[in-house]
Amino acid sequence: MHNFSYARPRDIEAALRLAAQPGSQFIAGGTNLVDLMKGGVQMPGRLIDITRVTGLARIHELPQGGLRIGALATNADTAAHSLVRERYPLLSQAILAGASPQLRNMATTGGNLLQRTRCPFFYDIGFRECNKRNPGTGCAALGGFNRNHAILGTSEECIAVNPSDMSVALVALEAVVQIRSLRGVRQVPVAEFQRLPGDTPQHDTILGPGEMITAVDLPGNSLARHSHYLKVRDRASYAFALVSVAAALELEAGGVVKDARVVVGGVAHKPWRVAEARALLVGHHLELRSLEAVADAAVRGAQPRQDNAFKIPLMKRAVVRALSEASQAGRTGT
Ligand code: SF4
Repeated sequence: MHNFSYARPRDIEAALRLAAQPGSQFIAGGTNLVDLMKGGVQMPGRLIDITRVTGLARIHELPQGGLRIGALATNADTAAHSLVRERYPLLSQAILAGASPQLRNMATTGGNLLQRTRCPFFYDIGFRECNKRNPGTGCAALGGFNRNHAILGTSEECIAVNPSDMSVALVALEAVVQIRSLRGVRQVPVAEFQRLPGDTPQHDTILGPGEMITAVDLPGNSLARHSHYLKVRDRASYAFALVSVAAALELEAGGVVKDARVVVGGVAHKPWRVAEARALLVGHHLELRSLEAVADAAVRGAQPRQDNAFKIPLMKRAVVRALSEASQAGRTGT
């Protein structure tokens, strides 16, 4: 049995002081961390329960436009919030595509961003080889069953995928993570918050020791109206994405694309931005030819392993369909 201490501070400053001590880890909904601790994958020396810290569960409008979602806002409350549903339906769709109602009632914004890969070799400590769990030991997934693993941005150290649906939508919406520590405050775009594995796959994000996510800010952009989140998975609910796509468009009155974002989930260690989408779509009507060009760009550089080559054609079809659905979303009111 692994012993750990437990603290439940009431304010951010107290939480940050505790977090500055080595071996500390924040816990909120616990929907991922408790499983990891039960399985012996993570063994923090001190748990800092931040669920009683005041002011972190609010969802409110920002003075300059946009919306701030507190780190402790539950996924259920965020998805159901009237301003999120009205202005950022992409985010509601993505959150509701993930987990189960019971989990969404517990899971928080901050925790969702920090959830760890569901690579089975990472969770099963019977496999010694896992660079993410035991740096320097190798990667059991490279020679093992890797149907669900990454095809983009991988390294020979790790081919795990990020499991978050919410993050894929947040990157498409160009959200920004608010981070606090005893050293001060910093803001990081969600697109830069999660990282590729490189030769240090033990680090999922850029969050440093003693840092806490306090909120996520959604800018008041107009990309959100014509948007769609498409998730392809093995069963209709309670399954992680094989491939998911967040598509967000700004359309002029005649249907010409004014701005576009396409982000793919389930294929990389972080939400995968299709940077070329903007150049390929802006200034044009949406036609099958241009959608297929975006799909081709999305899979450029893909490196499938023995069990997951199917993700390439699946991803291409999903990109085309998500963009088509997004173009119709504002017109149908969905
Ligand atoms: Fe570990 Fe990453 Fe390899 Fe999975 S893919 S076994 S998480 S190193």
